[in-house]
Parts: sequence; structure tokens; C-alpha cells
Amino acid sequence: MSSPEKHHFQAEIQQLLDIVIHSLYTDKEIFVRELISNAADACEKLRFTQAGGTQLHDPETAPAISLTTDETGGTITFSDTGVGMTHGELVENLGTIAHSGTKAFLKQIAEDKKPDAKLIGQFGVGFYSSFMAANRVTVLSRSAAVDEMGWQWVSEGTGGYELTPAADLPRGTKITLELKDDAKEFSKESTLEGIIKRYSSFVTFPIELNGKRLNTVQALWTRSKNEIKDEEYNEFYQFIGHDHEDPMLRLHFTADAPLSIQALLFVPSRNLETMGMGRMDSEVNLYCKKVLIQAKAKNLFPDWLRFLKGVVDSEDLPLNISRETMQDTALLQRLNKVLTNRFLKFLDEVAEKEPEKYEKFYIEYQKFLKEGIVTDFLHKEALAKLLRYESSTQEVGKRTSLADYVKRMPEDQKEIYCLMAPNRAAAENSPYFEVFRERKYEVLFLYDPWDEFVMEHLHTFEGKSLKSAEKAELNLADPAKKEGALSDDAAKSLAQWIKESLGEQVSEVRVSQRLVDSPAAIVDADKFMTSTMRRMMRAMKRDGAEPVPDRQDLEINPSHAMIVRLDQMRQKDADLARSVAEQILDNARVAAGVLDDPRVMLKRLNQILEKVLTQPGS
Ligand code: ADP
Ligand code: MG
Repeated sequence: MSSPEKHHFQAEIQQLLDIVIHSLYTDKEIFVRELISNAADACEKLRFTQAGGTQLHDPETAPAISLTTDETGGTITFSDTGVGMTHGELVENLGTIAHSGTKAFLKQIAEDKKPDAKLIGQFGVGFYSSFMAANRVTVLSRSAAVDEMGWQWVSEGTGGYELTPAADLPRGTKITLELKDDAKEFSKESTLEGIIKRYSSFVTFPIELNGKRLNTVQALWTRSKNEIKDEEYNEFYQFIGHDHEDPMLRLHFTADAPLSIQALLFVPSRNLETMGMGRMDSEVNLYCKKVLIQAKAKNLFPDWLRFLKGVVDSEDLPLNISRETMQDTALLQRLNKVLTNRFLKFLDEVAEKEPEKYEKFYIEYQKFLKEGIVTDFLHKEALAKLLRYESSTQEVGKRTSLADYVKRMPEDQKEIYCLMAPNRAAAENSPYFEVFRERKYEVLFLYDPWDEFVMEHLHTFEGKSLKSAEKAELNLADPAKKEGALSDDAAKSLAQWIKESLGEQVSEVRVSQRLVDSPAAIVDADKFMTSTMRRMMRAMKRDGAEPVPDRQDLEINPSHAMIVRLDQMRQKDADLARSVAEQILDNARVAAGVLDDPRVMLKRLNQILEKVLTQPGS
């Protein structure tokens, strides 16, 4: 046997190794990911070379990866049947010529308060992570080139390494780690199996551990869409999403520009947040060439898309990415932008082409879309297109989009009208709806209290302002006086009298131009406040806090029999008339849903009834 060639590590590499050996204590396990990723790269290169028609050593042997452990000896061996390395390549790749990544890594590590071992692979120096766990690393390699021979590379990570010729090696590379005392756990099969599954489940080449095949689920996202069956997608989803049900929606797409992205995204069949499971966390994992970079990657999507599960794989992840800078790196923002826009476009397509499917999605996830409108200025326009509401001109249970509403608007209608109500019946019977019914203007019925904020934030849609029906300045087209209606003067004088009787309970009483069937309605005096907001503000009021002051205007309908009678009564029995006026105000509050305590009203109502029943003639 010839005596070993002794080589020195290049200065920067030695510096790097010193840090790896002495300073990186956390995330030691990542050396497994790095060595498997190198083995997978070598297999990939082999396949590529073979496809190019180049003659290979051991052409029959398929590219594969296998690991063996020796718990008693405290070693792990990583073998692959990839391209292997020649003498020159061993020297170049494992110790002599530092990649540009080495410098960058050293710089990053020097700046980090807590050096993060996970970074190492991204700087192109992943191989050296083996020295986090090993005292001594032995590499046996035989290049795929036919006229090469095998070599052994050995190092303890200090000073240098030794190269010796090695006869009779099969093609590929075999790396043996003699584990340090504090890293012996990695030679335990179950420990190692868990790590491999976590990081390397989607590596394309078979991985065996002590003869057992580990990675059976393929990296589906890298395959072409039309050759993947639904069952395969569903199985994959259940695996990565830890769900036992099939997903509700899926989006599989590839982009080359502006970023290279392969993504497979799923919407779970259920919204767990509404099921009381607490806030969901995005479960989209970030990969680079099938190797996990970050599980449940943060900031890959805006918060309101946190229900998504799946995989994003990008080759463009830069070398100098660290966990902290991951949070706000420009690249991540670009990824976020591309992914979010693509997903919004996808939802739009589903809504267009598969309305029933979209309906199901909408019912389950509308809260998130609305949250997006309120919190994400960038995407609110696109999100507004995805909203669906019941409307006065559409059948019960059918939802319309704002865009379709706008298409139906008659020419003289300038605004989009929305009415907040607890349900359809309440909406159709609301005094605020009367003028719209009479003028044949469509009104969107909003049953979810949050919709009010959504409309506030949107403000306009396709250039038309969104208007609360309560606040719409709209009069009856033809206020043809019903027979027996009060004259304008009489109505005005009654309004004034009611204001005097009600005192501070209302800020103004006026003659309505828009009521048809109701005797009266209240309108919040505050221009931007509607009854729903008023209600929510009350609900959110903390105990002991100042009550939210009511500032309501009362509108009276001069054609309504009750109002006409009231005008007569105030001459005859002012006391009873005052009680009736108060009752009318409370009734209007009930209709608006802002009456706090009906018991006060009950007492008065009983008094009125008593009086009416004892009147002569009844
Ligand atoms: P990177 O993988 O980012 O290039 P590494 O430090 O992990 O950086 O590996 C350095 C180089 O060593 C690789 O680029 C590759 O050329 C070579 N190498 C490492 N492991 C193997 C292997 N199992 N088979 C063939 N070549 C390898
Ligand atoms: Mg590597």
C-alpha cells in the first residue's frame, strides 16, 4: 500500500471547520440532511450524465442512497451510487478550494449572535457539517468515469486530510462518520429514521436505512400535472397535511419568471378555526430542490392565507439566507407576492369555472377573505372580487358577486347598496329596505357583522361607492301622497312636537322621504355610524367604561296611519300621545336592532294598552 498523501485544508476552510467543531451546538442533526442532499445531488448528476450517453462505470447500478448505523461502534455510513469523485475532485471539493460560499458563511456566522447551523447547507459548505457530529470522517469514492480509480479521504477536521488509493470500490461515495461522544444518539436507528423522514422524505432517489426503504412518498410537486392522478394528490396531501380527509381545493403550478417556483398548495376541507381549534398556522413548507429548508415557513403568504397547506420549492433561495433575515428578505417578499397573486387568480378561476365548488370554499373560508380585505391593503381589490352576498333581487340562498351586481345596476343608480341584517326576513322587512324596493334598486344583504367593516375598508368597487342602505340619501321616486296623509306643514309641525316630547333621546326628528310601510325609522346621526357598528361598539364596551352615546335621528312617515292618528291625538290627549311617540321611537330601535333593554319599553307599552282599553268606545 502506498503511503498517504497529506493535504492541508485551505485557510478559510480550516477556519470554518474550527467554528463547526467548537461553536455549533444546536441543530446538530442537520448534517444528516446535508449528507443526504449531497448524495441525492450525486445521483442526479449521474442520471444526467447517463442521459447524455456518456459511458459509465457500473452502468447497471441504479442511483440510490443507503445508510447503515452501528450503535455499538457509534458510526453512521452514508453510501450512494452517484457520480462519485476523482482524486482531483476530492481535493477540490473537500478541503482545498474554498467556494465563495465559505466566506459568506464565515461572515454570517461572525455576525450572528447565535450561530445557526441550519444555514450551513445554503452556503454550499454542507459537507463540513459532518464534523459537528463526528471526530473523524472517512470518504471512499469511485468516480463514474470509466478510467478512474477509487480513493480514500480521511480527516479529523483539524489541519488537513489524507488521501490514499482504494482498490475495488463500487461506483459512488461512501462516507463514514465516527461519532463524537455527545452525538452517539445519531447512530440509533430510530433517531436517525425520524431525522431522515423529517428532512428528506421527498428526495427522488430511494433512501434505505439498515436495509429498510424510508422515502416512499414522492416529491409530487416536481412532476408534471397531467401525469398525476387525483388519488396521488390526495395521498400526498394527507401525508404532508396530517389530515385524514381529502383537500377541498388544490393548486399545482410552476413558474419560471420572475422566480423559479414549483408549488403545490391545498385548502383543507374544513376551516379548523371556526371549529374552535384556535388560530391556524400556515403549513406550507419551503424547499429548495426537494430538500426542506424551512417547515411551516413564516411570511411565505400573508396572514389571511394561513389556512393553506403544501409545498413551495424554489431554486432561487439565495446562499446568504438566515433564519432572522428569512423574516424580511426581499426574496421572501417576492415569493410572497408571486404566490399570493397566483392563489388569488386561482380562486377567481374556480369561482368562474366551478361555482359550486367555490361556494363551498366561500362558506368555509369567507372569514379569511374578509380579514384580508381589512388587513391587507395590497390585495383588497382582488379579494373584493371574491366576495359573495345574498341580494334582494336574487333568490334566497343564492349569492352574487359585486361584479355581477354592478352589471345589473340600472343607469340611474350610482351606488352599491348594502343592508346589514341578521337574516333574509329581517332584511326584507327592514324599514330601510322600503325605498329600495319601491325604486327597484338591488340591495346586497349582509348577515355577518364583520361585513360592515369590510365595506368600510373597501369603500368602493369598480369605481362605485359602497353605501349602507341606512345611510343612503335616497328618496321615493314618486312620493305620491297616500290618501289622508299629513300635509307638509302638518308633518313638519308634528315632527317638531315629537322632538320636543322626546327631548334628548333623539338629535333630530324629520319627515321621511323614503318610508313606505313603516311609521318611522331611526338613522344614526353620526354620518359614518350604522346601527350594526353601534351594536358592535356596545358589545365590545368594557365593563365600567362610558356608555357609547346614542345620537339618533328619527324619521317619520307622513303617510302612515299611525303617524296621522298621532297628530290628531296630540290635540286631545297629549300625555297618551307622548307615550305613543316614545313607543314609536323604541319600535324603530327594535327594527334597527339597537334597543338595549326591552323591559323599560314593556312597562310603557302596558300603560298605553291600559289607556286604550279604557277609552270610551273600545
Ligand atoms: P454543495 O453541496 O452545496 O456543493 P457541500 O459542501 O455539501 O456543498 O459539498 C461540496 C461538494 O462536494 C459538492 O458540490 C460535490 O461536488 C462534492 N460532494 C459532496 N458529497 C458528494 C457525494 N456524496 N458524491 C459526489 N460528490 C460529492
Ligand atoms: Mg451539499
